[in-house]
Amino acid sequence: MDHDFRMLIDGELTPGVSQFDVVNPATGAAFAQCPKADEALLDRAVAAAKRAQPGWAATPVETRAALVNQLADALEARIGEFASLLTSEQGKPLDQAGYEIMGSVFTLRAFAAMRVEPKVLKDEGGNRVVEHRTPLGVVASITPWNFPVILLMNKLGPALVTGNCMVAKPAPTTPLTTLLFGELAQAILPPGVLNIVCDQNELGALITGHPDIAKVAFTGSTATGKKVMASSAGTVKRVTLELGGNDAAIVLDDVDARQVAQKVYQGAMTNAGQICIAIKRAYVPAPMYDEFCDELAKLANAAIVDDGSKQGTTIGPIQNQMQFDKVKALIDDARTRGTVLAGGDALDRPGYFMPPTIVRDLDDDAPLVREEQFGPVLPVLKYDDIDDVIARANDSDYGLGGTVWGKDLARATDVAMRIDSGTVWVNQHMAIDANIPFRGVKQSGLGAELGEAGLLEYTQAHIVNAIALEDA
Ligand code: NAD
Repeated sequence: MDHDFRMLIDGELTPGVSQFDVVNPATGAAFAQCPKADEALLDRAVAAAKRAQPGWAATPVETRAALVNQLADALEARIGEFASLLTSEQGKPLDQAGYEIMGSVFTLRAFAAMRVEPKVLKDEGGNRVVEHRTPLGVVASITPWNFPVILLMNKLGPALVTGNCMVAKPAPTTPLTTLLFGELAQAILPPGVLNIVCDQNELGALITGHPDIAKVAFTGSTATGKKVMASSAGTVKRVTLELGGNDAAIVLDDVDARQVAQKVYQGAMTNAGQICIAIKRAYVPAPMYDEFCDELAKLANAAIVDDGSKQGTTIGPIQNQMQFDKVKALIDDARTRGTVLAGGDALDRPGYFMPPTIVRDLDDDAPLVREEQFGPVLPVLKYDDIDDVIARANDSDYGLGGTVWGKDLARATDVAMRIDSGTVWVNQHMAIDANIPFRGVKQSGLGAELGEAGLLEYTQAHIVNAIALEDA
């Protein structure tokens, strides 16, 4: 493609010090060039954000919110172009790319409608104590490659509404939609309010150690999240970490196996399983285990695995070679321990295509069960006893999401209460809403994103405790 992608620094569309290839995962071939920043360009971006921030914070919140709404309108007006570019760089089917862009529009609008009001903590005997919420300053957004657009909006919306300025760094394999968004933002936001820099994994440590960045809002793997936390310590930065997961689906014994298998399949395979809250292991009661596994296999065999830009594709490629190799290794290992019922063999064509894969008869200690596969493969595990299966589901360093499926809603909700995760959905999956906070427990994260709690993460409490001077 011949679009000249540029970074956004201090209100100017800026070329890099060099360029690197962006690969379409459906072909395995480069289709565009991405500009690359060095430390000096990063410093320019941070300095621009720092310069712009006092003026942005002093801008009335209604004006800031109106500009966030303008960003949403501009994005919506070009939804087709964004969705198509997202499919080219990320691989997801075009309709799913469209949902991500529309979700991004809704997220920006939801944050534009939120306000943080001062809270009176005490008002007695002339002593008035008020908690104000003030912006942090310069916030960095670091995003992964599975949902490059909406995960940025989850951070940009609250950061801008509360008066912060931002330096955003997309993942090296999916930087282009963020850069295209930068072109929209250049025409809407004052210079320096949003800056975008790109890298090939070199800038992360410089961002997390930067003295002029007050907070890092990070979404990515638990391994990188630990590095972010460690290197943010030097400047006592605020961090929010949205990290990996290994979400269990617990199917209760009163459901129709066929009906729930369809829902579990969708929860595991949407975006080719590359979702932090994808269903990554399914626990099914012994009496319905065979039927459930067979139904999942049937659905997997019916999938249309192809280039996401082709009409009718239900599963696109895995996003990059490294992730493809990881998923393939987990499947190859699982084959020696259990039974691959459907899929399992990469498509013999260019690109990173792995068909939806269903594996049964694995032990809980198989790597495919214990690790985050982040790809289109689902291990299905058998259980006899509900207390035992809850313990098995909780026996993980992760605690991001999870689902419980049951006809008896009260019983299913009780089980959900016992799952040690930030969010547990009952009889639905991935019901993410910009007004509902989302967070991981254990090694799945720190702090909240979305909702009022997510908004407050971009502020600090500023208490003013005042009393009148007595007469001299
Ligand atoms: P990753 O951790 O490899 O990369 C994420 C981002 O961190 C990229 O922009 C990368 O360039 C940057 N980075 C690399 N090294 C860094 C460093 N030392 N310091 C700071 N930043 C650095 O993750 P990924 O492979 O792109 O994404 C997949 C992971 O993201 C999965 O584990 C998935 O579960 C997780 N994820 C979590 C959520 C959530 O909300 N909890 C959402 C989506 C994805």
